[in-house]
Amino acid sequence: MDGGLTAKLQWRVARVVDSSPETESARTIGLAVPGWGGHLAGQHIDLKLTAEDGYSAQRSYSLSRPADGERIELTVQRIADGEVSPYLTAVPPGEEIELRGPIGGWFVWRPAEEARILLVAGGSGIVPLMAMLRQRISRGSAEFRLVYSVRSPADIYYSQELSRLERDCDWLRVAVVYSRVAPPQTARPPGRIDCGDLAVPGWTNDDGLRAYVCGPTGFVESVTTMLIGQGHSPSAIRTERFGPSG
Ligand SMILES: Cc1cc2nc3c(=O)[nH]c(=O)nc-3n(C[C@H](O)[C@H](O)[C@H](O)COP(=O)(O)OP(=O)(O)OC[C@H]3O[C@@H](n4cnc5c(N)ncnc54)[C@H](O)[C@@H]3O)c2cc1C
Repeated sequence: MDGGLTAKLQWRVARVVDSSPETESARTIGLAVPGWGGHLAGQHIDLKLTAEDGYSAQRSYSLSRPADGERIELTVQRIADGEVSPYLTAVPPGEEIELRGPIGGWFVWRPAEEARILLVAGGSGIVPLMAMLRQRISRGSAEFRLVYSVRSPADIYYSQELSRLERDCDWLRVAVVYSRVAPPQTARPPGRIDCGDLAVPGWTNDDGLRAYVCGPTGFVESVTTMLIGQGHSPSAIRTERFGPSG
């Protein structure tokens, strides 16, 4: 096995550096990982918590920012009856956590890739897609469209940053789709994402377009079915499933 792969698969101890609220139920957690060798936008880590009696639980979390030395960031949605996410969304700075990675070679975006990129996020599925947008700020020339499905305005992650990016970057358009509660004056009534939300004006499917779809399992499956129905090639659709449909 090559040395790089061995390092990625090895558990190492990271230290929580900071934690800040993203929404009422989600927090962004900064970690210092000694010897971190960098990662690609879209990759994730595996994280392991071990109790005093030796019981341990492992979960995957996407990296929400491009590599920045030995610092990485995650954004975790608290699942009320979950084993791991309630701990992570309350973890204090200074705490040590075991993790390994970076993991994943398919659900990644590399700045050298020129394609037009359609990002489709459901809830916390925005996390790896945000890493791609943040990567694009400093490198690359691809055009991006983000379709982001959330229950209500209060559930938008990275809200101010996304508004600023959309205002300042001519390579980005953002459409937020509210599934339960929309702000007043929103033309589209609240509801699940549909084919109309996924159609990008001015873009055709054979334009070198690639789609990244991320969120709860049911969301990813339904969006993928719609995209294929609209004529997108299955090989141009990359997906990441976070777990049960919420
Ligand atoms: C590649 C990958 C990347 C991921 N990245 C992120 C990320 O960036 N941020 C993030 O918050 N999560 C992410 N997840 C989901 C994460 O790994 C956990 O599944 C999630 O945090 C729940 O873990 P838990 O231990 O709190 O809940 P569990 O103890 O596993 O589950 C408790 C209950 O919640 C349900 N449940 C489990 N997961 C979900 C879910 N995602 N949505 C709704 N209900 C659920 C279970 O069916 C169960 O009923 C990712 C998953 C994968 C596979």
